[in-house]
Amino acid sequence: MSLYRDQGVVLRTIRLGEADRIVTLATRDNGKVRAVAKGIRRTTSKFGGRLEPMSHVAVQCWRGRELDIVTQAEVIDAFGRVRADLGRVGKAYTVLEVVDQLSQEGHANAPLYDMVVGALRVLEVGDPPLLVAAFVLKVLAAEGAAPELDVCVACGEDSELVAFDPVEGGALCRSCRRGRPLGPDSLALLRAILRGGLRAALAEPASPVTDDVSALVTESIEAHLDRRLRSLHSAVVR
Ligand SMILES: [Zn+2]
Repeated sequence: MSLYRDQGVVLRTIRLGEADRIVTLATRDNGKVRAVAKGIRRTTSKFGGRLEPMSHVAVQCWRGRELDIVTQAEVIDAFGRVRADLGRVGKAYTVLEVVDQLSQEGHANAPLYDMVVGALRVLEVGDPPLLVAAFVLKVLAAEGAAPELDVCVACGEDSELVAFDPVEGGALCRSCRRGRPLGPDSLALLRAILRGGLRAALAEPASPVTDDVSALVTESIEAHLDRRLRSLHSAVVR
């Protein structure tokens, strides 16, 4: 067994035995880590409330064969304002769930760690309607699965794009259209998020357009996770 230090965001915790919890973290250097926090459910626990979902922490752990063991935890960001607002809590949990599904044990993913910390910090100081959509789009782009937004994803023509199909993975022209209708304002916002216009997109007030973009991005991540699940499944079956 060896000792290591890392920083991570707590994705979830589950009870273990009488007094312990297994804490799942998305870390910077060790990917997804599952570690036992011993005695954490006792009122006298040295961990206090530091290892709650959403907390950004610096940890020291023993590396175990199956599960690691947390020996120290210090809070970097507690995200108190997010926790005090149910609407923001919901958004934060959506972000954590996406990270949980995409991160893998034993695979360092510093960009994903940076993105989740960044998203939670934005949420701590405000409540942008497009926070989750922007986060998910950036994550998809980092996975090499950003939706096609320049040419029709079906025929490759550089013509007016009027529809969006999350399963196909992008926008569609008039002759190939299927999926959901795509207005020019939604298309412009999607492009802005992926191309340096993130700050402006996050300042966008809630509107039917931001609702549309959020719905479309949610369908895109669901389609992506579904594809990943299928490819993982076929890899296992093989
Ligand atoms: Zn087409």
